[in-house]
Amino acid sequence: MDLTWNAHELAFRQELRDFVQAQLPDDIRAKVFKHQRLDNTDYIRWHRILAKKGWGAPNWPVEFGGTGWGPLQKLIFEIECFKGGAPRLLPFGLGMIGPVLMKYGSKSLQERFLPRMLTVEDWWCQGYSEPGAGSDLASLKTRATRTADGYIVSGQKTWTTLAQYADWMFCLARTDPDAKPQRGISLLLIDLRQPGVTVRPIRTLDGGADVNEVWLDDVKVPFENLVGKENEGWTYAKYLLGHERTGIAGIGHCHRELQILKKIAAETMVDGKPAKHNARLKEKIVRIEIDILALEMLLLRVAAGSDQGPGPQASILKIRGSEIQQDLAFLQMEVMGVDAWPYDARWMESDADFFGPGPEFAAAASAGYFDLRKTTIYGGTTEVQKSIIAKMLLG
Ligand SMILES: Cc1cc2nc3c(=O)[nH]c(=O)nc-3n(C[C@H](O)[C@H](O)[C@H](O)COP(=O)(O)OP(=O)(O)OC[C@H]3O[C@@H](n4cnc5c(N)ncnc54)[C@H](O)[C@@H]3O)c2cc1C
Repeated sequence: MDLTWNAHELAFRQELRDFVQAQLPDDIRAKVFKHQRLDNTDYIRWHRILAKKGWGAPNWPVEFGGTGWGPLQKLIFEIECFKGGAPRLLPFGLGMIGPVLMKYGSKSLQERFLPRMLTVEDWWCQGYSEPGAGSDLASLKTRATRTADGYIVSGQKTWTTLAQYADWMFCLARTDPDAKPQRGISLLLIDLRQPGVTVRPIRTLDGGADVNEVWLDDVKVPFENLVGKENEGWTYAKYLLGHERTGIAGIGHCHRELQILKKIAAETMVDGKPAKHNARLKEKIVRIEIDILALEMLLLRVAAGSDQGPGPQASILKIRGSEIQQDLAFLQMEVMGVDAWPYDARWMESDADFFGPGPEFAAAASAGYFDLRKTTIYGGTTEVQKSIIAKMLLG
Protein backbone atom coordinates (compact mmCIF):
# COMPACT_ATOMS: atom_id res chain seq x y z
CA MET A 1 0.00 0.00 0.00
CA ASP A 2 1.44 3.35 -1.05
CA LEU A 3 0.74 5.87 1.70
CA THR A 4 2.23 8.92 0.00
CA TRP A 5 -0.16 11.33 -1.64
CA ASN A 6 0.16 11.89 -5.34
CA ALA A 7 0.31 15.28 -7.06
CA HIS A 8 -3.41 15.26 -7.76
CA GLU A 9 -4.27 14.68 -4.09
CA LEU A 10 -1.80 17.32 -2.94
CA ALA A 11 -3.32 19.82 -5.38
CA PHE A 12 -6.79 18.99 -4.09
CA ARG A 13 -5.62 19.54 -0.51
CA GLN A 14 -4.19 22.93 -1.46
CA GLU A 15 -7.40 23.88 -3.24
CA LEU A 16 -9.35 23.07 -0.08
CA ARG A 17 -6.97 25.00 2.16
CA ASP A 18 -7.27 28.06 -0.06
CA PHE A 19 -11.04 27.73 -0.23
CA VAL A 20 -11.56 27.41 3.53
CA GLN A 21 -9.12 30.26 4.17
CA ALA A 22 -10.93 32.55 1.74
CA GLN A 23 -14.57 31.56 2.20
CA LEU A 24 -15.08 30.60 5.85
CA PRO A 25 -16.40 33.68 7.72
CA ASP A 26 -13.89 34.91 10.31
CA ASP A 27 -16.43 34.99 13.16
CA ILE A 28 -17.21 31.28 12.69
CA ARG A 29 -13.52 30.37 12.50
CA ALA A 30 -12.83 32.30 15.71
CA LYS A 31 -15.62 30.51 17.57
CA VAL A 32 -14.44 27.09 16.42
CA PHE A 33 -10.82 27.64 17.41
CA LYS A 34 -11.84 29.06 20.80
CA HIS A 35 -14.27 26.15 21.37
CA GLN A 36 -17.14 28.61 21.72
CA ARG A 37 -20.76 27.77 21.04
CA LEU A 38 -22.05 27.86 17.48
CA ASP A 39 -25.66 28.62 16.75
CA ASN A 40 -27.84 27.28 13.96
CA THR A 41 -27.08 30.16 11.60
CA ASP A 42 -23.33 29.46 11.80
CA TYR A 43 -23.86 25.91 10.54
CA ILE A 44 -26.32 26.98 7.86
CA ARG A 45 -24.02 29.72 6.55
CA TRP A 46 -21.16 27.25 6.13
CA HIS A 47 -23.35 24.62 4.47
CA ARG A 48 -24.58 27.16 1.95
CA ILE A 49 -21.06 28.38 1.16
CA LEU A 50 -20.09 24.78 0.41
CA ALA A 51 -23.25 24.15 -1.61
CA LYS A 52 -22.55 27.19 -3.78
CA LYS A 53 -19.16 25.71 -4.63
CA GLY A 54 -20.80 22.35 -5.46
CA TRP A 55 -19.47 20.71 -2.29
CA GLY A 56 -22.77 20.66 -0.39
CA ALA A 57 -22.80 16.87 -0.04
CA PRO A 58 -19.22 15.58 0.02
CA ASN A 59 -20.27 12.04 0.93
CA TRP A 60 -23.05 11.63 -1.66
CA PRO A 61 -23.01 10.26 -5.20
CA VAL A 62 -23.35 12.72 -8.09
CA GLU A 63 -26.84 11.50 -9.06
CA PHE A 64 -28.21 12.93 -5.81
CA GLY A 65 -26.34 16.22 -6.01
CA GLY A 66 -23.20 15.03 -4.22
CA THR A 67 -19.57 15.39 -5.20
CA GLY A 68 -19.08 11.72 -6.04
CA TRP A 69 -15.71 11.83 -4.27
CA GLY A 70 -13.85 8.66 -3.33
CA PRO A 71 -12.76 7.80 0.23
CA LEU A 72 -9.46 9.68 0.04
CA GLN A 73 -11.00 12.89 -1.27
CA LYS A 74 -13.67 12.76 1.45
CA LEU A 75 -10.97 12.26 4.04
CA ILE A 76 -8.87 15.17 2.77
CA PHE A 77 -11.99 17.35 2.65
CA GLU A 78 -12.95 16.59 6.23
CA ILE A 79 -9.46 17.09 7.60
CA GLU A 80 -8.82 20.36 5.77
CA CYS A 81 -12.20 21.87 6.67
CA PHE A 82 -11.71 21.07 10.34
CA LYS A 83 -8.09 22.23 10.41
CA GLY A 84 -9.15 25.49 8.77
CA GLY A 85 -11.66 26.14 11.56
CA ALA A 86 -14.89 25.17 9.79
CA PRO A 87 -17.80 23.76 11.81
CA ARG A 88 -18.65 20.10 11.38
CA LEU A 89 -21.27 19.38 8.74
CA LEU A 90 -24.64 18.69 10.33
CA PRO A 91 -24.82 14.91 10.35
CA PHE A 92 -28.58 14.36 10.57
CA GLY A 93 -29.45 15.04 6.93
CA LEU A 94 -26.24 14.46 4.98
CA GLY A 95 -24.83 11.62 7.05
CA MET A 96 -27.88 9.84 8.45
CA ILE A 97 -31.34 10.08 6.88
CA GLY A 98 -29.95 11.18 3.49
CA PRO A 99 -28.13 7.87 2.78
CA VAL A 100 -31.16 5.93 4.09
CA LEU A 101 -33.50 7.74 1.69
CA MET A 102 -31.09 7.06 -1.18
CA LYS A 103 -31.12 3.34 -0.46
CA TYR A 104 -34.62 2.69 0.89
CA GLY A 105 -36.76 5.81 0.33
CA SER A 106 -39.39 6.25 -2.40
CA LYS A 107 -38.55 8.40 -5.40
CA SER A 108 -40.94 11.06 -4.17
CA LEU A 109 -39.28 11.21 -0.71
CA GLN A 110 -35.88 11.42 -2.42
CA GLU A 111 -36.98 14.24 -4.71
CA ARG A 112 -38.74 16.09 -1.93
CA PHE A 113 -36.06 16.02 0.74
CA LEU A 114 -32.58 15.28 -0.63
CA PRO A 115 -31.97 18.50 -2.61
CA ARG A 116 -33.02 20.56 0.42
CA MET A 117 -30.41 18.86 2.61
CA LEU A 118 -27.56 20.39 0.61
CA THR A 119 -28.51 23.89 1.74
CA VAL A 120 -30.17 22.94 5.05
CA GLU A 121 -33.61 24.16 4.01
CA ASP A 122 -34.86 21.67 6.62
CA TRP A 123 -33.11 21.09 9.92
CA TRP A 124 -33.29 17.39 10.80
CA CYS A 125 -33.04 15.62 14.13
CA GLN A 126 -32.85 11.97 15.15
CA GLY A 127 -35.76 10.51 17.11
CA TYR A 128 -34.43 7.11 18.14
CA SER A 129 -33.77 7.08 21.91
CA GLU A 130 -36.47 7.13 24.55
CA PRO A 131 -36.41 6.96 28.33
CA GLY A 132 -35.81 3.24 28.81
CA ALA A 133 -34.82 2.63 25.17
CA GLY A 134 -31.22 3.64 24.53
CA SER A 135 -28.89 0.66 24.23
CA ASP A 136 -31.98 -1.50 24.13
CA LEU A 137 -33.45 0.55 21.32
CA ALA A 138 -35.83 -2.18 20.18
CA SER A 139 -37.85 -1.74 23.36
CA LEU A 140 -39.01 1.71 22.22
CA LYS A 141 -42.62 2.55 23.05
CA THR A 142 -43.56 5.48 20.81
CA ARG A 143 -46.68 4.31 18.95
CA ALA A 144 -47.75 5.04 15.40
CA THR A 145 -51.37 4.06 14.91
CA ARG A 146 -52.82 3.66 11.44
CA THR A 147 -55.92 5.71 10.60
CA ALA A 148 -57.68 6.33 7.29
CA ASP A 149 -55.57 9.48 6.65
CA GLY A 150 -52.18 8.39 7.95
CA TYR A 151 -50.45 7.61 11.24
CA ILE A 152 -51.12 9.21 14.60
CA VAL A 153 -47.91 9.19 16.64
CA SER A 154 -47.61 9.47 20.42
CA GLY A 155 -44.65 9.00 22.72
CA GLN A 156 -41.52 10.58 24.14
CA LYS A 157 -38.08 10.81 22.60
CA THR A 158 -35.04 11.92 24.55
CA TRP A 159 -31.45 13.12 24.06
CA THR A 160 -32.60 14.55 20.74
CA THR A 161 -29.59 16.59 19.61
CA LEU A 162 -30.33 20.09 18.27
CA ALA A 163 -34.09 19.45 18.19
CA GLN A 164 -34.53 23.03 19.36
CA TYR A 165 -33.82 24.09 15.76
CA ALA A 166 -35.41 21.14 14.00
CA ASP A 167 -38.11 21.27 11.33
CA TRP A 168 -38.15 17.50 10.80
CA MET A 169 -37.43 14.37 12.78
CA PHE A 170 -36.68 10.90 11.43
CA CYS A 171 -38.38 8.81 14.05
CA LEU A 172 -38.60 5.16 15.01
CA ALA A 173 -42.11 4.23 16.12
CA ARG A 174 -43.90 1.00 16.87
CA THR A 175 -46.47 0.17 14.21
CA ASP A 176 -47.15 -3.41 15.31
CA PRO A 177 -47.25 -3.79 19.11
CA ASP A 178 -47.89 -7.54 18.85
CA ALA A 179 -44.83 -8.40 16.77
CA LYS A 180 -41.39 -9.25 18.22
CA PRO A 181 -39.65 -6.00 19.33
CA GLN A 182 -37.48 -5.53 16.19
CA ARG A 183 -40.22 -6.59 13.76
CA GLY A 184 -42.92 -4.05 14.58
CA ILE A 185 -40.97 -0.81 14.14
CA SER A 186 -41.28 1.71 11.29
CA LEU A 187 -39.18 4.71 10.26
CA LEU A 188 -41.30 7.85 9.85
CA LEU A 189 -40.47 11.39 8.79
CA ILE A 190 -42.27 13.75 11.14
CA ASP A 191 -42.90 17.44 10.54
CA LEU A 192 -42.15 19.00 13.93
CA ARG A 193 -43.82 22.31 13.11
CA GLN A 194 -47.31 21.11 14.04
CA PRO A 195 -49.53 20.94 17.13
CA GLY A 196 -48.74 18.13 19.56
CA VAL A 197 -44.94 18.55 19.42
CA THR A 198 -43.19 19.82 22.55
CA VAL A 199 -39.40 20.28 22.74
CA ARG A 200 -37.75 20.83 26.13
CA PRO A 201 -34.01 21.38 26.65
CA ILE A 202 -31.82 19.12 28.81
CA ARG A 203 -28.98 21.03 30.48
CA THR A 204 -25.67 19.15 30.06
CA LEU A 205 -22.43 18.99 32.02
CA ASP A 206 -20.73 21.65 29.86
CA GLY A 207 -23.49 24.17 30.60
CA GLY A 208 -25.06 23.81 27.14
CA ALA A 209 -28.55 22.70 26.18
CA ASP A 210 -28.14 21.13 22.77
CA VAL A 211 -29.97 17.92 23.68
CA ASN A 212 -33.69 17.81 24.27
CA GLU A 213 -36.71 15.85 25.29
CA VAL A 214 -39.32 15.73 22.53
CA TRP A 215 -42.93 14.86 23.27
CA LEU A 216 -45.17 13.69 20.45
CA ASP A 217 -48.81 13.91 21.38
CA ASP A 218 -51.21 12.65 18.68
CA VAL A 219 -48.97 14.01 15.96
CA LYS A 220 -50.12 13.46 12.36
CA VAL A 221 -47.88 11.73 9.82
CA PRO A 222 -49.17 11.10 6.27
CA PHE A 223 -48.56 7.63 4.80
CA GLU A 224 -46.19 9.08 2.19
CA ASN A 225 -43.76 9.94 5.04
CA LEU A 226 -43.14 6.28 5.81
CA VAL A 227 -39.61 5.31 4.75
CA GLY A 228 -39.55 1.96 2.96
CA LYS A 229 -42.04 -0.60 4.22
CA GLU A 230 -44.14 -0.62 7.36
CA ASN A 231 -42.64 -2.72 10.19
CA GLU A 232 -39.25 -2.91 8.39
CA GLY A 233 -37.80 0.13 10.15
CA TRP A 234 -35.23 -1.84 12.14
CA THR A 235 -33.28 -2.68 8.97
CA TYR A 236 -33.14 1.00 7.96
CA ALA A 237 -32.33 2.05 11.52
CA LYS A 238 -29.27 -0.21 11.59
CA TYR A 239 -28.08 1.00 8.19
CA LEU A 240 -28.36 4.57 9.45
CA LEU A 241 -26.45 3.76 12.65
CA GLY A 242 -23.52 2.42 10.60
CA HIS A 243 -23.25 5.83 8.91
CA GLU A 244 -23.70 7.65 12.22
CA ARG A 245 -20.93 5.67 13.93
CA THR A 246 -18.49 6.22 11.08
CA GLY A 247 -19.18 9.96 11.36
CA ILE A 248 -18.64 9.94 15.12
CA ALA A 249 -15.06 8.70 14.51
CA GLY A 250 -14.44 12.42 13.96
CA ILE A 251 -11.16 12.23 12.07
CA GLY A 252 -11.32 15.92 11.15
CA HIS A 253 -12.05 16.87 14.74
CA CYS A 254 -9.02 14.82 15.88
CA HIS A 255 -6.69 16.58 13.43
CA ARG A 256 -7.93 20.02 14.47
CA GLU A 257 -7.63 19.30 18.17
CA LEU A 258 -4.12 17.91 17.66
CA GLN A 259 -3.21 21.18 15.93
CA ILE A 260 -4.68 23.14 18.87
CA LEU A 261 -2.88 20.88 21.37
CA LYS A 262 0.46 21.64 19.68
CA LYS A 263 -0.28 25.37 19.78
CA ILE A 264 -1.16 25.20 23.47
CA ALA A 265 2.02 23.22 24.17
CA ALA A 266 4.05 25.91 22.37
CA GLU A 267 2.41 28.80 24.23
CA THR A 268 2.15 27.38 27.75
CA MET A 269 5.28 28.05 29.81
CA VAL A 270 6.51 25.50 32.35
CA ASP A 271 9.59 26.41 34.42
CA GLY A 272 10.33 29.25 32.02
CA LYS A 273 10.20 27.09 28.89
CA PRO A 274 7.40 26.22 26.44
CA ALA A 275 5.72 22.99 27.58
CA LYS A 276 6.38 21.41 24.18
CA HIS A 277 10.04 20.89 25.15
CA ASN A 278 9.06 18.56 27.99
CA ALA A 279 10.16 15.06 26.91
CA ARG A 280 7.23 13.24 28.52
CA LEU A 281 4.71 15.58 26.94
CA LYS A 282 6.39 15.21 23.55
CA GLU A 283 6.01 11.46 23.84
CA LYS A 284 2.29 11.77 24.64
CA ILE A 285 1.72 14.08 21.68
CA VAL A 286 3.55 11.75 19.32
CA ARG A 287 1.59 8.79 20.69
CA ILE A 288 -1.75 10.46 20.02
CA GLU A 289 -0.65 11.58 16.56
CA ILE A 290 0.11 7.94 15.76
CA ASP A 291 -3.33 6.95 17.06
CA ILE A 292 -4.93 9.50 14.74
CA LEU A 293 -2.97 8.23 11.73
CA ALA A 294 -3.99 4.67 12.56
CA LEU A 295 -7.63 5.77 12.76
CA GLU A 296 -7.23 7.44 9.37
CA MET A 297 -5.90 4.22 7.84
CA LEU A 298 -8.76 2.26 9.37
CA LEU A 299 -11.30 4.70 7.97
CA LEU A 300 -9.85 4.34 4.49
CA ARG A 301 -9.75 0.56 4.80
CA VAL A 302 -13.39 0.35 5.87
CA ALA A 303 -14.47 2.80 3.16
CA ALA A 304 -12.53 0.94 0.46
CA GLY A 305 -13.78 -2.45 1.63
CA SER A 306 -17.48 -1.97 0.93
CA ASP A 307 -19.73 0.00 -1.37
CA GLN A 308 -22.76 -1.17 0.62
CA GLY A 309 -22.19 1.38 3.38
CA PRO A 310 -20.39 0.83 6.66
CA GLY A 311 -21.09 -2.52 8.33
CA PRO A 312 -20.16 -3.63 11.85
CA GLN A 313 -16.62 -2.24 11.30
CA ALA A 314 -18.21 1.14 12.04
CA SER A 315 -18.21 0.06 15.70
CA ILE A 316 -14.40 -0.11 15.71
CA LEU A 317 -14.19 3.35 14.17
CA LYS A 318 -16.67 4.68 16.70
CA ILE A 319 -14.77 3.33 19.70
CA ARG A 320 -11.34 4.45 18.52
CA GLY A 321 -12.46 7.88 17.29
CA SER A 322 -14.46 8.69 20.39
CA GLU A 323 -11.64 7.61 22.70
CA ILE A 324 -9.06 9.66 20.82
CA GLN A 325 -11.31 12.74 20.98
CA GLN A 326 -11.51 12.32 24.74
CA ASP A 327 -7.75 11.73 25.03
CA LEU A 328 -7.06 14.95 23.12
CA ALA A 329 -9.33 16.98 25.41
CA PHE A 330 -7.65 15.42 28.43
CA LEU A 331 -4.17 16.16 27.13
CA GLN A 332 -5.09 19.78 26.39
CA MET A 333 -6.29 20.09 30.00
CA GLU A 334 -3.09 18.47 31.24
CA VAL A 335 -0.86 20.93 29.36
CA MET A 336 -2.81 23.95 30.58
CA GLY A 337 -2.72 22.69 34.15
CA VAL A 338 -4.63 24.70 36.74
CA ASP A 339 -5.49 27.39 34.17
CA ALA A 340 -7.94 24.92 32.64
CA TRP A 341 -9.77 24.15 35.85
CA PRO A 342 -11.92 27.26 36.40
CA TYR A 343 -15.10 27.01 34.45
CA ASP A 344 -18.10 29.12 33.68
CA ALA A 345 -20.57 28.19 30.94
CA ARG A 346 -20.75 31.87 29.88
CA TRP A 347 -17.10 31.78 28.74
CA MET A 348 -18.28 29.56 25.88
CA GLU A 349 -20.36 32.37 24.40
CA SER A 350 -18.80 34.41 21.61
CA ASP A 351 -19.79 37.72 23.26
CA ALA A 352 -18.11 36.82 26.57
CA ASP A 353 -15.84 39.62 27.75
CA PHE A 354 -14.17 37.76 30.62
CA PHE A 355 -12.36 34.50 30.19
CA GLY A 356 -11.18 33.46 33.62
CA PRO A 357 -7.74 33.76 35.14
CA GLY A 358 -5.74 31.84 32.49
CA PRO A 359 -5.05 32.51 28.81
CA GLU A 360 -8.06 32.82 26.52
CA PHE A 361 -7.55 29.35 25.06
CA ALA A 362 -7.99 27.84 28.54
CA ALA A 363 -11.44 29.36 29.06
CA ALA A 364 -13.47 26.66 27.30
CA ALA A 365 -11.16 23.75 28.15
CA SER A 366 -13.17 22.30 31.03
CA ALA A 367 -16.47 22.67 29.20
CA GLY A 368 -15.02 20.95 26.13
CA TYR A 369 -13.56 18.17 28.22
CA PHE A 370 -16.86 17.51 29.98
CA ASP A 371 -18.83 17.79 26.76
CA LEU A 372 -16.70 15.13 25.07
CA ARG A 373 -17.69 12.55 27.69
CA LYS A 374 -20.67 12.10 25.40
CA THR A 375 -18.72 10.59 22.50
CA THR A 376 -18.46 7.17 24.13
CA ILE A 377 -22.22 7.22 24.85
CA TYR A 378 -24.09 8.63 21.86
CA GLY A 379 -24.52 6.62 18.69
CA GLY A 380 -24.37 3.53 20.93
CA THR A 381 -22.13 3.16 23.99
CA THR A 382 -18.63 1.67 23.91
CA GLU A 383 -19.84 -1.41 25.79
CA VAL A 384 -22.53 -2.02 23.19
CA GLN A 385 -20.05 -1.49 20.31
CA LYS A 386 -17.74 -4.06 21.89
CA SER A 387 -20.58 -6.56 21.94
CA ILE A 388 -21.27 -5.89 18.24
CA ILE A 389 -17.59 -6.43 17.41
CA ALA A 390 -17.50 -9.65 19.45
CA LYS A 391 -20.62 -11.01 17.82
CA MET A 392 -20.46 -9.77 14.24
CA LEU A 393 -16.71 -9.58 13.57
CA LEU A 394 -15.07 -12.03 15.96
CA GLY A 395 -17.87 -14.56 15.87
C1 LIG B 1 -25.00 14.07 24.16
C2 LIG B 1 -25.92 13.01 23.64
C3 LIG B 1 -26.57 13.19 22.45
C4 LIG B 1 -27.47 12.23 21.97
N1 LIG B 1 -28.17 12.50 20.81
C5 LIG B 1 -29.15 11.64 20.42
C6 LIG B 1 -29.99 11.96 19.33
O1 LIG B 1 -29.86 13.01 18.67
N2 LIG B 1 -30.98 11.10 19.01
C7 LIG B 1 -31.17 9.93 19.68
O2 LIG B 1 -32.06 9.19 19.31
N3 LIG B 1 -30.39 9.59 20.73
C8 LIG B 1 -29.38 10.42 21.12
N4 LIG B 1 -28.58 10.11 22.20
C9 LIG B 1 -28.89 8.90 22.96
C10 LIG B 1 -27.83 7.82 22.91
O3 LIG B 1 -27.90 7.10 21.70
C11 LIG B 1 -28.05 6.93 24.13
O4 LIG B 1 -27.72 7.71 25.27
C12 LIG B 1 -27.18 5.70 24.12
O5 LIG B 1 -27.57 4.82 23.10
C13 LIG B 1 -27.20 4.96 25.48
O6 LIG B 1 -28.50 4.74 25.90
P1 LIG B 1 -28.96 5.18 27.36
O7 LIG B 1 -28.57 6.60 27.57
O8 LIG B 1 -30.40 4.84 27.50
O9 LIG B 1 -28.10 4.31 28.37
P2 LIG B 1 -28.38 2.80 28.80
O10 LIG B 1 -28.74 2.00 27.59
O11 LIG B 1 -29.33 2.81 29.93
O12 LIG B 1 -26.95 2.36 29.28
C14 LIG B 1 -26.45 2.65 30.60
C15 LIG B 1 -25.14 1.93 30.77
O13 LIG B 1 -25.34 0.50 30.69
C16 LIG B 1 -24.49 -0.06 29.68
N5 LIG B 1 -25.22 -1.12 28.96
C17 LIG B 1 -26.50 -1.08 28.53
N6 LIG B 1 -26.81 -2.22 27.87
C18 LIG B 1 -25.69 -2.98 27.86
C19 LIG B 1 -25.38 -4.28 27.34
N7 LIG B 1 -26.29 -4.99 26.65
N8 LIG B 1 -24.12 -4.75 27.53
C20 LIG B 1 -23.21 -4.03 28.21
N9 LIG B 1 -23.44 -2.81 28.74
C21 LIG B 1 -24.68 -2.28 28.57
C22 LIG B 1 -24.18 1.08 28.73
O14 LIG B 1 -22.97 0.86 28.05
C23 LIG B 1 -24.10 2.27 29.70
O15 LIG B 1 -22.84 2.31 30.28
C24 LIG B 1 -27.66 11.03 22.68
C25 LIG B 1 -26.96 10.83 23.88
C26 LIG B 1 -26.11 11.79 24.37
C27 LIG B 1 -25.40 11.55 25.67
